[in-house]
Amino acid sequence: MITNFLKTYELTTEILNLISSTDSYCYIVSPYVKIWPHLDRVLSIASKKEAIITFVIREDIKSNELIQKLNVEFGFEVIVIKNLHIKLYLNEDKCLFSTMNLYDSSKQNNLELGYYVNNPVDIKREIIEDYILADKTAIRYPGKFEAKRNQILDKVSAAKEILESQGFCVDCRKRILPDFNPYNPRKVRCRDCYFKTEFLNVEIKYCHYCGLEHNSTDRKPFHYDCTQDLKKYRSLVKDYD
Ligand SMILES: [Zn+2]
Ligand SMILES: [Zn+2]
Repeated sequence: MITNFLKTYELTTEILNLISSTDSYCYIVSPYVKIWPHLDRVLSIASKKEAIITFVIREDIKSNELIQKLNVEFGFEVIVIKNLHIKLYLNEDKCLFSTMNLYDSSKQNNLELGYYVNNPVDIKREIIEDYILADKTAIRYPGKFEAKRNQILDKVSAAKEILESQGFCVDCRKRILPDFNPYNPRKVRCRDCYFKTEFLNVEIKYCHYCGLEHNSTDRKPFHYDCTQDLKKYRSLVKDYD
């Protein structure tokens, strides 16, 4: 049975869920948008939560009215593109391609189809940023929550830097390329120490991440707190890279 496809009656529910479950960012690429009461409620809650939502719509006689509502009233970023025909709904977890504009499908007679694709982070970068938003007719109306977006992006690049910085050999404390994930006991040693180690699961002296004393085994090459820090940094970066 195919499971990635959504039919007309399922589409609006899915899109509303996608908007309300937004954590880091959400892109609604829909040439035409008609705000019906349920959508209005979902957007108003998202606006109170300062959700970072970007609407990409088509230049049209209705676009000023939409900019007023979405950008001025709700505070979301709006981008108007002259001949937009793509319909795509994306947040950090999910990406839905669809034939449907953001209308209440139950009120329409159209036969629509939607399709879930897997890698939203890549699609955000390669399709949304590098293709759709790069269109030369794009006019941008910045949202009210851009400061928050920038704060998150600063945190992400700081986290990236930490994850890419050098780690420590767990035996001799030499700086080596890190392997913060996955935790492979073989990869947390420098070359010399690695060739001296006959078995795995043996005692180590230093934390692979912070280089401070750590009496443990190579199965657990990080302090507990360091593991928590690394988890935090990885989850920050995962929505963007
Ligand atoms: Zn070493
Ligand atoms: Zn540590």
